[in-house]
Amino acid sequence: MTENAVRSVALAADSVKTVSGIDVAETSPEACFARLHQILRDELPHCVVFGNGVAAQEIAPRLAYRLGGSCAGDAREVNVVGGKVRVNRAVYGGKAMASIELRSIPAVVWVRARAMEPAVEQDVPGIVQAIERGEDILVKAEVVERHAEAVEGVRLEDANIIVSGGRGLGSAAPFERLQSLARTMQAEMAASRAACDLGWVPHSWQVGQSGKKVAPEFYLAIALSGSSQHLMGAADAKQIAAINIDPEAPIFKHCRFGIVEDFDKVVDLLREKLAVKLGWILRRPRARCFGTSSTGGSSTFF
Ligand SMILES: Cc1cc2nc3c(=O)[nH]c(=O)nc-3n(C[C@H](O)[C@H](O)[C@H](O)COP(=O)(O)OP(=O)(O)OC[C@H]3O[C@@H](n4cnc5c(N)ncnc54)[C@H](O)[C@@H]3O)c2cc1C
Repeated sequence: MTENAVRSVALAADSVKTVSGIDVAETSPEACFARLHQILRDELPHCVVFGNGVAAQEIAPRLAYRLGGSCAGDAREVNVVGGKVRVNRAVYGGKAMASIELRSIPAVVWVRARAMEPAVEQDVPGIVQAIERGEDILVKAEVVERHAEAVEGVRLEDANIIVSGGRGLGSAAPFERLQSLARTMQAEMAASRAACDLGWVPHSWQVGQSGKKVAPEFYLAIALSGSSQHLMGAADAKQIAAINIDPEAPIFKHCRFGIVEDFDKVVDLLREKLAVKLGWILRRPRARCFGTSSTGGSSTFF
């Protein structure tokens, strides 16, 4: 942990314990797990909460098993009811909520990104204490190669606005137009699994049951049907809007508003109208921003 990170955590926590010599980003989850197990078997916590991340998903169930506790993932809420930790999480593709009581202690939980409000800073920072390096850890797996996911801007899980494309776009090329729209909206890009599996965009863009779980303020779904597997990753968005040629597309059931139209007729026009609304055209030389395109001569949007 950097000094800044420790200071930030101490502003929200009563006490902070730091462990040196282990970098979660660089070390294998197995090594992190082993060190955490060493520390927590002596601390005997009631509940261990992880953030959302691949390492957390790998470590949490193993830690619960080793400590004789219980585990639940993808939590939207974590409460203590009658002395027991209770976790609320979405099930059946976001159609229902399950309330799960974790009876064995410690309760080990990982929470969905942006599911909770940031902690309130306290006037007096918590006590920071360094933990002595424990006995050597036997790690049986070795990381032999690492491929860093190219992240431009903010992580998808932390994004405020997301523009997401699906198979209905027909090929990789329209994603460039969606990206242009996303830049105008200061949004991050995402996609359905179908679009990722077709190789149109990287798998790191995939949202859904087997992809990323996102919770932006606004999720714009373009030419994707809104399968339950996709919505499992997007249903936490505060507002969902869609552009789809099929008025019966399931995504519209989750939308506050939508446009029933061919994306081809809508995306560029929407970008231009939004650029005007957001004042970008006034601030940037027009030729550099949009080349020779016109505003389409339509005033049907906004
Ligand atoms: C175990 C499992 C896990 C899965 N995990 C995921 C996951 O994590 N994420 C995920 O996304 N999927 C996941 N899937 C796949 C999921 O079931 C769907 O197949 C997938 O989400 C469909 O992607 P899509 O909506 O892009 O494509 P489609 O279902 O083919 O929808 C395309 C949409 O585009 C519209 N369209 C077509 N042409 C146009 C046009 N010109 N303009 C506007 N709209 C147009 C159509 O009306 C249609 O609604 C999973 C499936 C399984 C079995």
